[in-house]
Amino acid sequence: MSANLLQRSLASVWHPCTQMKHHESMPLVPVVKGEGAWLITEDGRRLLDGISSWWVNLFGHCNPRIGAALHDQLDRLEHAMLAGFTHPPVVELSERLSALSGHRLGHAFYASDGASATEIALKMSVHYWRNRGLPAKNRFVSLAGSYHGETAGALAVTDVPLFRDAYAPLVRPGAVVPVPDSRLASGGISAADIARQAARALERHLEEHHAETAALIVEPLVQGAAGMVMYDEEYLRLARALCDRYQVHLIADEIAVGCGRTGSFFAWEQVDNSTHAGWPDFLCLSKGISGGYLPLSLVLSRHEIYHGFYADESARGFLHSHSYTGNPLACRAALATLDIFTEDEVLATNRSRGDRLEQLLRERLGRHAAIRHLRRRGMIFAFDVAGAAPDFARRFFTAALEQGALLRPIGNTVYFMPPYILDQAECEHLVSAAAAALDVVLN
Ligand SMILES: *Cc1c(COP(=O)(O)O)cnc(C)c1O
Repeated sequence: MSANLLQRSLASVWHPCTQMKHHESMPLVPVVKGEGAWLITEDGRRLLDGISSWWVNLFGHCNPRIGAALHDQLDRLEHAMLAGFTHPPVVELSERLSALSGHRLGHAFYASDGASATEIALKMSVHYWRNRGLPAKNRFVSLAGSYHGETAGALAVTDVPLFRDAYAPLVRPGAVVPVPDSRLASGGISAADIARQAARALERHLEEHHAETAALIVEPLVQGAAGMVMYDEEYLRLARALCDRYQVHLIADEIAVGCGRTGSFFAWEQVDNSTHAGWPDFLCLSKGISGGYLPLSLVLSRHEIYHGFYADESARGFLHSHSYTGNPLACRAALATLDIFTEDEVLATNRSRGDRLEQLLRERLGRHAAIRHLRRRGMIFAFDVAGAAPDFARRFFTAALEQGALLRPIGNTVYFMPPYILDQAECEHLVSAAAAALDVVLN
C-alpha cells in the first residue's frame, strides 16, 4: 500500500520546493494521521514535528478546539464573497487583530498565502504614493538574505538566488541593504553596534534613493528562510525613524515571526515596548494565524494608509482581490487560534517551555565541536554546523526521520520551530533525535 501511494504521488503530484529526481533516492514520507505534535505515517512510524509543518502549526495536529470551531462554522457558512458582503468571522478577526496591535493597525485586507500578503503590501504602498501625487515612489528595499515569498512580485524583494535566478526576466529587482546579523558581533562589538552599522547603510541608501523608494520590507527580528538569522531590535527602531525621515513605508513581514513565534504576539511589540518607536505602516501575517489549518494571510495597515485610498473615485481604491478573500472557515480557525492564546496564556507558558528546550540544547549540544552560534529568539532555536558537506541538509533530514523527528535544516543551519505544546518528554525526544542525527551525518 505504502509503495503504491508513493508511486502514485510521484506520478501525479508535483511537490513544492523539490527537484523531483531526488526522490529516486530519497523516499517521500506518507503521512496519514496527526496527533498533537506528532505526524504518523502509513506504516505506523511516529515523527515529532519539530518545525510545525513549515512553521504553520501552532497548537498541534488535529487540535480538538480548532476542530470543534471548524465543525460549527461548516454548519453555518463555508464561504461567501467578500466584495459587497461581510460575515461574522471576518469582522471579529479583524477587530481582534486591530486590538492586539493597540489599534495602531486597524484595517485588515485578506488573502490566502504569505506571498499574496507580500504582493498586497507592495501594491498598496505604491498605490498610496500614487494617490498622494508621488508616482515615482515605486521601488523597494529589502535586507540581504530576505525571503518574502515566491510569486513574481514577492521575488523582487526575496534575496535568495536559487529561488530568483531562473525567473530573473520576470522580476523587477529591488535594492538590497546589509542585514545586521547578530553572529557578526564579537569582542567589544555588540549586536546593537552591528544594528547601528547596518542602519547607517540603510540611511545612505535612502538619502540617495528616497524619491523613488516606496517601502522598506523586513522580517522583524529573525530572517527565517535565510537560516534563522537573528538581529537586534535596535535596527528596527532606527529603520522606523529613517523611514519616517525619508517618507518611505515600512512593511513588517511577520508571516513567519508573528503569532508568538519570537515571544510576543507580534514581533514588532518588542521594538515598541523597548523604545516607543512607531509601528510599521503594513504588517503581513499568515502561516500560524490559522493554527496551521487553512490557508489564510492578511495585511494590517495604519489609518493614514487606509485614508489615502478613501475617495469618491473607484480608481483611488485598492483594486485587488482573490476569490477566497476572507474565507469564513479560515477566519474561524484563526479565531479559535486566538482563543487558545488567551485561554492557555500561551505567551507566558512559552517562556518557560522555551527556556527548558534551550537548556536541553545547551546541555546536549552546547559543547559539540562542530556546533557554532547556538541561538534562540522566543520559540525559534538554531545552530550552525561547521564543516558541513553540501548535501548536509538532506542527509540530516533523513537521519532525523530515522530518529523519529521532522527536522529540515536550511543549508548548514539546523533549526527548531516546534508547536507551542511540547511537554518535557517531547522536548527531550527532539533534542536527542537532533543529537543522534548529527552523529550519523558527521561520522
Ligand atoms: C513563508 C514566508 C512567506 C511566504 O508565505 P507562503 O504562504 O509560503 O507564500 C513570506 N514571508 C516570510 C517571512 C515567510 O517565512
